[in-house]
Amino acid sequence: MNLNRRIFTAAAVASTLALGSSLAQAQAYPAKPISLVVPFSAGGPTDIVARTLAATMTKSLGQSVVVENKVGAGGTIAASLVMKAAPDGYTFLIHHNGMATAPALYRKLAYNPVTDFEHVGNVVDVPMTMIARKDMAAKNLGELMSYIKANADKVNLANAGLGAVSHLCGTLFQQALGVTVTTVPFSGTGPALNALLGGQVDLLCDQTTNTVPHIKAGTVKMYGVTTKQRIKALPDAPTLDEGGLKDFEVIVWHGVYAPKGTPAAVVQKFGDALRVALKDPAFVSRMADLGGEIPPVGRQSSEGQRAWLTAEVDKWGKAIRAAGQFAD
Ligand code: ASP
Repeated sequence: MNLNRRIFTAAAVASTLALGSSLAQAQAYPAKPISLVVPFSAGGPTDIVARTLAATMTKSLGQSVVVENKVGAGGTIAASLVMKAAPDGYTFLIHHNGMATAPALYRKLAYNPVTDFEHVGNVVDVPMTMIARKDMAAKNLGELMSYIKANADKVNLANAGLGAVSHLCGTLFQQALGVTVTTVPFSGTGPALNALLGGQVDLLCDQTTNTVPHIKAGTVKMYGVTTKQRIKALPDAPTLDEGGLKDFEVIVWHGVYAPKGTPAAVVQKFGDALRVALKDPAFVSRMADLGGEIPPVGRQSSEGQRAWLTAEVDKWGKAIRAAGQFAD
């Protein structure tokens, strides 16, 4: 056997062994609980989606999926932590449009959202609602807009930090009105909504997964949903577009990510459990009650999420750069 042939044979054996060990690893996976990192506070809308998903996936994986809240910097702290985590299939990230907006918002972002992660798949699409404290006098969006324009120095708007969708929605809202109000950042819209319920802040644009129960109970005032069409979960709620903010649209999509280098067979297995959850009637109806819709099958896959995120980075990047005021 000449030297080349011996090197070739050794390489073939090594790659067969590697394939065998990654298959064995995938077959044994998961052998212990899995962390699902949420970039915002417990009790908020991303957390609600994550906990419902984790409980559903636990059933088919046969191991607990445990939610961990790692808050701060509009979700970028959690994404950085997961990017640096061991790529062993035991740490995943769930995040929303913030994955797509962060590159335009943060000059020193530690990661590229498209290329520095393995993509698992999209989870759920959720509308937002513009809500106010219960005693806000304005009866409809028109009155609210007039009130804000006349009182811009007094009104305050809560959000979950630069990179949060509440920040994005609130900024687009202020731009549409041509005013700037005081913004109050929280570690998630769970605590922001509590501040609204307590009357410490005036306004919040937040996902229906957090706001629907409060809108139905009448503990907050609702001025419109951020979709172009009315939604089934709140059939009487006008859209912001109907209320006078033409073409106003923000839909929050959620995706699951793994650290770069997580074995493909493991990503596939976790993704398969995700796709089983997206067909689970209890998961689907819980999401629907909160205004959420399961994304098209094309976005539930690894390749589908990568393509979708790439397009979203482009779309929001252009909007943010046009707005100018976001960069930090
Ligand atoms: N998703 C919310 C936001 O970005 C924050 C949260 O989930 O608590 O505004």
